[in-house]
Amino acid sequence: RLFVPDNLIAGEAVVPAPEQGRYLTAVMRLTVGAEILLFNGRDGEWRATLVEAGKRNVRLLVGARTRPQVAPPDLDLVVALVKRGRLETIVEKAAELGARRVRLVVTRRTNADHTNVGRLQAIAVEAAEQTGRLDVPEIVAPEKLDRMLNGWDADRRLMFCDETGGLPPALDAVRAAGGSSWAVLIGPEGGFDPEEGERLRGLPFVTPVSLGPRILRADTAAIAALALWQAAIGD
Ligand code: SAM
Repeated sequence: RLFVPDNLIAGEAVVPAPEQGRYLTAVMRLTVGAEILLFNGRDGEWRATLVEAGKRNVRLLVGARTRPQVAPPDLDLVVALVKRGRLETIVEKAAELGARRVRLVVTRRTNADHTNVGRLQAIAVEAAEQTGRLDVPEIVAPEKLDRMLNGWDADRRLMFCDETGGLPPALDAVRAAGGSSWAVLIGPEGGFDPEEGERLRGLPFVTPVSLGPRILRADTAAIAALALWQAAIGD
């Protein structure tokens, strides 16, 4: 499967980016006539045929649409900046577990305040290709937690992942809260500052949820929380 940000129209040719062309011909060793699935994140998935496989130019001919576009669940993952490798794992798993956006957040105990958003976006594309999604999760540049909460859209419920949160019954509250817009919040290696926790627990759109008795690493917590959300609410 290949993500191409182009219009996909049956019978029209698509020229993938050079590195994608090399991936098809040098890495996947595809030759003329090979069938590939294309998606552009906007209007579904299409079958395509490799019609040119030269060193410098690769061309695909778009065939029939195989799947219409379906909007992903309106689920954001809000994750504090953690070590690069872990953050890359979080983005990959968020793509596999259906997050529509990954919003990066800087909390009081977050050690970094910037990251390579472009690299994370490329990881999201690769994960979307692999996992069969029709959209690519959007990576949103880091924002301070207080600023994010000040501008929060109160129609979006926030599943605040914290050891002090409620256990599964809180999930019933989460499910009962209904609503289609959600976000899951995961803190940094050092957890949330007590005042941040205080503020979050006091907000009307926040449901604190515990992920169990053990302290999970941020990447484990993100994966567990997204899986829990999908189990409780995902459609
Ligand atoms: N809070 C711990 C501390 O201060 O030592 C460690 C933070 S943990 C490495 C990073 C984030 O994962 C936490 O801020 C929280 O969002 C989430 N998390 C980890 N374990 C959790 C649990 N048992 N329940 C809910 N969230 C958890």
